[in-house]
Amino acid sequence: MLEIKNKKILVIAPHTDDAEFGMGGAIAKFIEDGNTVYCAAFSACQQSVLSSFPADILITEVKEASGILGIKPENLYLFEYDVRTFNFHRQAILDDIIGLREKLAPDIVFIPSTNDVHQDHGVIAEESIRAFKFSSILSYEIPWNNFRFSNTCFILLQENHVAKKAKAVETYKSQAHRKYASAAFVQALARTRGVQINSDFAECFEIVRLIM
Ligand SMILES: [Zn+2]
Repeated sequence: MLEIKNKKILVIAPHTDDAEFGMGGAIAKFIEDGNTVYCAAFSACQQSVLSSFPADILITEVKEASGILGIKPENLYLFEYDVRTFNFHRQAILDDIIGLREKLAPDIVFIPSTNDVHQDHGVIAEESIRAFKFSSILSYEIPWNNFRFSNTCFILLQENHVAKKAKAVETYKSQAHRKYASAAFVQALARTRGVQINSDFAECFEIVRLIM
């Protein structure tokens, strides 16, 4: 088994909750293992938050959820694009991602899958690959948006990593009405991916490009 230690890891999330939902367990593990994890989210979806919550609730929630996983506040980057408009702002988004590349020089970059059908996720996946074409890139899993997902990379997790992910996911009270926003789903998926590598818990990733 390969180990990832003392690396700079950048997680690129279209929306404020995607990093936690997609790879909260791996983020907790990376930080526990001494890596530095940066997270950049491109929209707090203020236009689509339920009216029973403040419009900026996802900003509050992402700060708390990323803290649960161990991401330092100064390593959380929040951009302010409107949800479902990313395709109108491709060049600006690409410029922002290139800015992160120049500032952070990450060793590994995590992005949504190129098979993710959410329009904003698709834009972030494509522009991230463009910006990081000379880097190692893995895609995290968003099962409800992935029409296809190839099980080409696994990150082994311990129970405490899954517990932190579940706690981070449940921090998103504004998303609690969604089927996938539950500890039960987090644990079920981690167990499923774990069984595929003859272990208890894991998260699954697609290899986009791997440089060793
Ligand atoms: Zn999203």
